[in-house]
Amino acid sequence: MPEYQSLYRKYRSQTFADLVGQDAASRALQGAIVSRRVAHAYLFSGSRGTGKTSAARLLAKALNCTGRGRDSAEPCNACQSCVEMTAGSALDLIEIDAASNRGIDEIRDLREKVNLAPALGPFKVYIIDEAHMLTEPAFNALLKTLEEPPGHIVFVLCTTDAQKIPLTVIGRCQQFVFRRHSEEQIASRLSYIAGTEKVSVDADAMALIARTAQGSMRDAVGLLDQLVPLASGPISLESARSLLGIADPRLLDSLLDDVLAGRAAEALTELNRVYAAGAELRQVVRGLMEGCRDRLVAALSKRDQTTARRLSSVLDALLHLDGEVRRHAEPRFLVEATLARLAVEAETGSATQPAVAAPVVEQVSPPPAPPSHEVGRRPAGGEVRGWSEGLEKLNRTVRAVYLDAQPEVDGSLLVLWFGYGVHHKKAQEQSAQLMPHVRAWLGDDAKIDYRLRDNDATKPAQRPASPEDDPFVREIVRRFDGRVTRVKEVSE
Ligand SMILES: [Zn+2]
Repeated sequence: MPEYQSLYRKYRSQTFADLVGQDAASRALQGAIVSRRVAHAYLFSGSRGTGKTSAARLLAKALNCTGRGRDSAEPCNACQSCVEMTAGSALDLIEIDAASNRGIDEIRDLREKVNLAPALGPFKVYIIDEAHMLTEPAFNALLKTLEEPPGHIVFVLCTTDAQKIPLTVIGRCQQFVFRRHSEEQIASRLSYIAGTEKVSVDADAMALIARTAQGSMRDAVGLLDQLVPLASGPISLESARSLLGIADPRLLDSLLDDVLAGRAAEALTELNRVYAAGAELRQVVRGLMEGCRDRLVAALSKRDQTTARRLSSVLDALLHLDGEVRRHAEPRFLVEATLARLAVEAETGSATQPAVAAPVVEQVSPPPAPPSHEVGRRPAGGEVRGWSEGLEKLNRTVRAVYLDAQPEVDGSLLVLWFGYGVHHKKAQEQSAQLMPHVRAWLGDDAKIDYRLRDNDATKPAQRPASPEDDPFVREIVRRFDGRVTRVKEVSE
């Protein structure tokens, strides 16, 4: 029996023409290859599943291809180098997964071997995947190599989080941003794959998969891969939905309407319809979170703070629910109870809440079931205001470093609690920028104490229940409406 090859691997782009949806990067890379002006280091950044590693491999393949025409960047996919690269056995293509062991040994190894000539072709290409996960020593070692790169070396750093790459490294790289794929691009690629695989998939079902994948071609092809063996005949929208456990987004939309409008009974009926149609509860909760987030973004862009505040507290509750649904023995009752409670709160809230918008967005009421460790630390309104006013005065880059911080004030001492080591460290490096504003706020003898949260002690909240549960992302949603579009979903 032949070894099963996933559709994603089988249909991974083997030519630049295949590289869907990344025209700018694709054109620039091809131009550099043809004109022999390839940079020593590239940084490919963008959401997961958008083709960064595929593009990096294509670059490597094209550079070492012996069958390539002079005026074309397309690899021949037939010469020894191409064949080995496709098979993953090429010695001149070294892939380092920084996520698996933070890259310490590999980078050390790299420094030792970087001066050795390539085995077969003119170039040795290092692809460092999830490069933002490299440790500081690994980055330092890499930087030393980037400062004096041997002529035969090309580095491609791929990352879903370019902000975590040190600026000194970014400065040495040519950067390309990989965009999320549009639903049309995904659907069109899926149609091609389905056609080649001789599987019949309705256009509606294709569109559903494309939407569910949220811009990630890899996820989309992965979903198709799950569907194909399960379906006995042509794949219809209904069968795609029930096989993938995805709720009809229109039903979810009306469910969310009911919850937000305080119609508890209708919400429960709607939930049962969604459930009866075969939707998985986690997908239901995720769908509600997406709908809620879309509405939150819309409210923020209209500066409708009352609605934004309400939606952000509903979103908080859904995020919490998303984490609970996985562990709970009776998730259905949990979802029902949460939605009913939110609906009831919406009803009573709209009856008693004054129509005037509160002046400070940060004074969001805590989520209904706040993680216990936050209770004692939630700062008073005045602290929050003094802190956010100080933040506003920083430039954007510096400010980003402090977004994760939770302030506590004790006389002239400002304690900043950080959830992430990287922010904790960077914040201290940027302290000189913040200090004048803290002095203006707390007086000339003001001091700042930078503290990193003990992650073990705060595990329930510090391990985000879902990607959107990331406190950093949530702070951005709350504080910087202009940057809310950068919230991204990265599934496990
Ligand atoms: Zn070739």
